[in-house]
Amino acid sequence: MNTAISRLAVAAALACGCLPMAAVAQPTSAPAPTLAPTLAEARAFVAAAEKEALDYYIEANLIEWVNNTYITEDTDALAARNGEQGTQMQVRFAKEAAKYEAVPGLPADLRRKLDKLRAGIVLPAPTTAGAARELNEIATRLQSSYGKGMGLLGGKPINGSDIEEEMGQPHTPADYAEMWQSWHDQVGKPMKADYARMVEIANDGARELGFSDVGAMWRSGYDMPPDEFAALTETIWQDVKPLYDALHCYTRTKLNEKYGDAVQPGTGPIRADLLGNMWAQEWGNIYAVVAPAGAGDLGYDVGDLLKAKGFVETRADMNDTPETPETQRRGYWEKQMFRIGENFYSSLGLAPLPESFWERTQFIKPRDRDVVCHASAWDLDAKDDIRIKMCTKVNSDDFTTIHHELGHNYYQRAYQDQDFLYQDGANDGFHEAIGDFIALSITPQYLVDIGLLDPARVPSADKDIGLLLRQAMDKVAFLPFGLLIDRWRWGVFDGSIAPADYNKAWTELRREYQGIVPPVDRPDDAFDPGAKFHIPGNTPYTRYFLARVLQFQFYEAACKQAGWTGPLHRCSFYGNKTVGANLNKMLEMGAAKPWPDALEVFTGSREMSGKALIHYFAPLKTWLDEQNKGKTCTW
Ligand SMILES: [Zn+2]
Repeated sequence: MNTAISRLAVAAALACGCLPMAAVAQPTSAPAPTLAPTLAEARAFVAAAEKEALDYYIEANLIEWVNNTYITEDTDALAARNGEQGTQMQVRFAKEAAKYEAVPGLPADLRRKLDKLRAGIVLPAPTTAGAARELNEIATRLQSSYGKGMGLLGGKPINGSDIEEEMGQPHTPADYAEMWQSWHDQVGKPMKADYARMVEIANDGARELGFSDVGAMWRSGYDMPPDEFAALTETIWQDVKPLYDALHCYTRTKLNEKYGDAVQPGTGPIRADLLGNMWAQEWGNIYAVVAPAGAGDLGYDVGDLLKAKGFVETRADMNDTPETPETQRRGYWEKQMFRIGENFYSSLGLAPLPESFWERTQFIKPRDRDVVCHASAWDLDAKDDIRIKMCTKVNSDDFTTIHHELGHNYYQRAYQDQDFLYQDGANDGFHEAIGDFIALSITPQYLVDIGLLDPARVPSADKDIGLLLRQAMDKVAFLPFGLLIDRWRWGVFDGSIAPADYNKAWTELRREYQGIVPPVDRPDDAFDPGAKFHIPGNTPYTRYFLARVLQFQFYEAACKQAGWTGPLHRCSFYGNKTVGANLNKMLEMGAAKPWPDALEVFTGSREMSGKALIHYFAPLKTWLDEQNKGKTCTW
């Protein structure tokens, strides 16, 4: 999503967490240029490419939408063919754009568009005969072997989504270790040779486009030299690391109390399989293990509040006929949850969603066909035809997800008047951060304001630590993981991590950044990175790290504009039109300007930084330091 042409995949990618198939180069004919290209040719090329890309995008979205909401062999075939055409187009644009990089006197705007076209592909193939086909085959094989991957629980085979869920359920340490080891051995290990070969080919392709390697190409989408961007992410990490260290220390103590020294010692790194997640990337599933006595329970659940207000979840046997009263129709109450979400944005002064949103959104799972249920936000015509695809349930998670997905839709609509190549987030962290920052505003007071929560049931201040700790177990625990995935990949692509050291380097980074270790010794031929979707899926990952940081910057800025003076985590800017007007100014810029310009418009700062996140969690940090007194908080 960080580049203009990946805009083509934005609809499918947004909000997903699951990202689309990596764009892989297809064979192209590349005649050697005979004359130095001119400025006029560069202009003509960009104008034509932008038009062709927009035409493709509109057509592709219709196919993708139908495929996602009506999965059959036929719509799969249409989507596959269409995706291949899109990839070919992207490769053609990237190679052509590279030719104009050295044209003298390129105006900034034209250069920006050329850069977006040149870096608009995730895995570029070189023009060498057979290279594109080999790269495509390897990338497809890696993805599909991940998709078919199986682990073991109790000696029985278990598929990927089930094992992921089981890692978050109560089990014995031996069961966790079995799931962890079997998943990493059976899914990761077989990919190693393919992955090393893929790196070689794609690096050749990146060099043909004028980048030193694929990692440098990925880092080129941030309006600064690739090395400077890498340094910036490290600076942000160092800002937030003391908070992570304190959370790690406290969590380790609680796990030690639960499991004893033999399973989890009270010092050193944490065993990776005990944190409620296959990759130890978010720890919210073990919140019950760490919840502070007396302050851990908030005392209400949004799903229960909705149900108490009469929200009825659609049942499979429900009818949807003209004779049924409106409130008994399939999806009626789920739709009302979206009305609540829209109301938040309307309260900021943003225009209501278009009527087509309500007609075309998929609110609930249809009863008679297969659909992709993972929530995503779409923008079908690069104008007003915004929609969401969800299989909504009346519960707390989906209530938050709705606010999050709508963030994408409002962003998309806000930048609709930009040139097509600029219809994107200011950088790829922005798009995810908008919805998350709005969702941070779902505070108890906001729930009172919209009539869901009785004011008498607003949790007292002594519950704040529980609320913050629950948030931190996901949002803070994620930070080092969000960083290290690409730390490893950047090293692999630039050659500082050789294939023989792939696993060793991965394990070392996990220990260094996350402070975790595998539950069992890893064999020399292991390939543990392959056991995480985004590695075989070739999805750049730094965007998720950035989004976690940015959402708190946006939130802090909004609360300041709203005149909030209390503890940051209690702020809701619901109903504040100044915030809405300022936010809209940033959103409507899209990707037309370097991201610091966009950030400055809303927050007044040109720096991405972890300081707002630190501010938000400050009361928790104080409390954690108190709990950790006398402990050695290192690993
Ligand atoms: Zn999202």
